[in-house]
Amino acid sequence: MVIVGAGVIGLACAMELAARGRDVTVLETLAAPGQASSSRANGGVRAQFTTAANIALSMFSIEAYERLERDTSLPGFRQHGYLLIAGDEETERGLRTAHDLQRSMGVDTRWLGPDEVLAKAPFVEPEGIRAGTFHARDGVVDPAGVVTAFERLARANGVTIGLGSPVTAIDGDGGGFRVRHGEGAVTAGVLVNAAGADAREVARMLGADVPVEPVRRNLALFLDAPGDPTPMVVDVATGVLVRREGAGGWVVAYSNPQDRPGRATSVDPAFFEDLAARIPERFPFLAELPLDPARCWAGLYPETPDHHAIVGRDPGVPGLVHCVGFGGHGLMHAPAAGRAVVELIVDGACSTFDLRPLRPSRFAEGDLVVETAVL
Ligand SMILES: Cc1cc2nc3c(=O)[nH]c(=O)nc-3n(C[C@H](O)[C@H](O)[C@H](O)COP(=O)(O)OP(=O)(O)OC[C@H]3O[C@@H](n4cnc5c(N)ncnc54)[C@H](O)[C@@H]3O)c2cc1C
Repeated sequence: MVIVGAGVIGLACAMELAARGRDVTVLETLAAPGQASSSRANGGVRAQFTTAANIALSMFSIEAYERLERDTSLPGFRQHGYLLIAGDEETERGLRTAHDLQRSMGVDTRWLGPDEVLAKAPFVEPEGIRAGTFHARDGVVDPAGVVTAFERLARANGVTIGLGSPVTAIDGDGGGFRVRHGEGAVTAGVLVNAAGADAREVARMLGADVPVEPVRRNLALFLDAPGDPTPMVVDVATGVLVRREGAGGWVVAYSNPQDRPGRATSVDPAFFEDLAARIPERFPFLAELPLDPARCWAGLYPETPDHHAIVGRDPGVPGLVHCVGFGGHGLMHAPAAGRAVVELIVDGACSTFDLRPLRPSRFAEGDLVVETAVL
């Protein structure tokens, strides 16, 4: 089997396939694994989504990261929770619906009144807080640690990772694939597209399509003295999310839904304007802190129109499996992605998850379920 892309998704697929005895080669353009989107993530892991599909992927992945943390400490999984705050009636209604769905699926999300919100995040502006939700097993992983853990597990099970090996062309005749890359060519019976923000280009090499667009996302670091790590605090109305790093400073994110697709990965100057307009509402203390432009960064979300990943067999190309389009959720959903792909390929169907909402054909069928908790 050949997997195109050694980000967290490709590595998770490789690790799981090799653990089931499959002969796996991963081909990666860059000189090291995880150096495209995966290494640039904020590290957030949460079960607080609005759709059953995403909640199921999160529940599986949280357990997997908890196990991996116990066994290796490599993911650096710190479970300080995610705290979502509603400051108006509409966001409160949305939070309530999501909270009820999460609880119905076994996630222990708690409903908080304004005083309980402030007890968990005394640094936020209290004015107008109506309610909040908190899930204690949410948290943050270290992206580099996750890449290292998955790479080691994959290699330990015999996976070959070809670095500096961009896939440039793929020929498929229904009986297998011939994959041409930087250093030559390999053949494969099954091909997994895990090319992140480049997934569409890889699909097109076989005349297929997946609607994955690269969208730049930015993170800022505000300098401050060391302090206790906080939950990831999300002001749902403005979309700003904030967490304190134990070593000092506040990591702040905001994803402007108006941002157009593109490949730039330098920090967008408009991001700072977006923050300046939005942080005073719930996080006015940040306005008093210096922002370190040298420690702000950006990268690409591999986005889809419905903010769900695309996981499944291509409807037109036998042997081609897509595992792409994880948007801002790829790091957290990688363990689940690997499990879904191994079951699809080795068992013939996925039994751990209902992959119907993630199937590649849903776009052509116009049958989309949209995730709205997009950060
Ligand atoms: C600023 C920012 C913050 C984020 N925060 C979070 C977060 O808090 N939580 C979370 O879960 N996610 C977060 N994400 C999203 C997360 O990083 C992505 O969803 C995830 O990394 C996607 O993994 P991937 O393996 O699909 O993509 P990638 O890591 O991009 O890997 C794809 C790989 O495929 C390779 N490739 C592409 N084309 C070819 C080719 N033709 N031949 C060979 N190799 C090829 C690329 O070089 C790349 O290494 C964030 C992303 C950004 C940018």
